[in-house]
Amino acid sequence: MKNLIKAILCMAIVFVIYSPYAKAQHTPNSLNQPGYYHMALGDFEVIALSDGTTPQKLNELLTNAKPGEVERLLKQHYQASIIECSVNAYLVKANGKLILIDAGTSDVYGLALGHIAEGLNKAGYKPEQIDAILLTHIHMDHIGGLMNGDKIAFPNATVYISKIEADYYLNPANKAKAAEGAKRFFDGAEQKLRPILTAGKLRTFDFDGELFPGIIPIASFGHTPGHSFYVVESQGEKMLFMGDVLVSDAVQLPEPSVTSVYDYDAGQAAVTRKKALAEAADAGYWVGVSHISFPGIGHIRVDGKGYVWVPVNYSASGNGQ
Ligand SMILES: [Zn+2]
Repeated sequence: MKNLIKAILCMAIVFVIYSPYAKAQHTPNSLNQPGYYHMALGDFEVIALSDGTTPQKLNELLTNAKPGEVERLLKQHYQASIIECSVNAYLVKANGKLILIDAGTSDVYGLALGHIAEGLNKAGYKPEQIDAILLTHIHMDHIGGLMNGDKIAFPNATVYISKIEADYYLNPANKAKAAEGAKRFFDGAEQKLRPILTAGKLRTFDFDGELFPGIIPIASFGHTPGHSFYVVESQGEKMLFMGDVLVSDAVQLPEPSVTSVYDYDAGQAAVTRKKALAEAADAGYWVGVSHISFPGIGHIRVDGKGYVWVPVNYSASGNGQ
């Protein structure tokens, strides 16, 4: 009898795995992973949202490294030189407000990315519920999700960005002066941010205090001219959202001098990164990083002359400890 039950169970499992229904669940235009991870931060809640992953050639993307250094460090972390790079955004539930940090890519990079709204929906929220969006910087994988075609994707949200960043990328005169490879960032700003400005939903800031109780932007220039971190703090628990000042934990933590081809001012980006890593390691607060393996939440710990990434301990209840 037991064998009969086992045989029926096996047949059922085989049917589920190979049935057209099961295959329909794994279409490339939907997230095959849950796509969100939530944890408590004092009285606040932080929900990491996955926009998806995309292959990146780190040995070409990362610069200012000794010959062979990038490959050596990647190998040490069991990573190939082309890795599936996460694109993360973060929803912060603070004092009854829903605040999104960065907006993912929407339809810009094909079906593997553009899943913020899907993750948001799975986590139990709708785009129209979002009150505010805080942008770290104006690159397409952070601002793309602001617009779906010509429609504002988060219709009730006010979008916040540093004044330096908005003034730089929304000025056509700067595009004319920019290097050929950097002109697309200005096109991105026109496509995704200009409509928000026109609709009267863009607010710029000068790094002079809180945007919301417990939420402060921090000047962190270099990757872009007006790049912003966001500190989120509640009941003595603190998380620093670092945007793109750190791209690869495997390479840039042991070697913070390694820069990225996407940096506007690579030297300044390296200085900003070193300062941020030293402070995060010293104080031991949480960090949330856009392109570190989802959910991109963890701690920075000193390791020899550099640092090492300590990912959040998985917690089914979302306590995060
Ligand atoms: Zn960037």
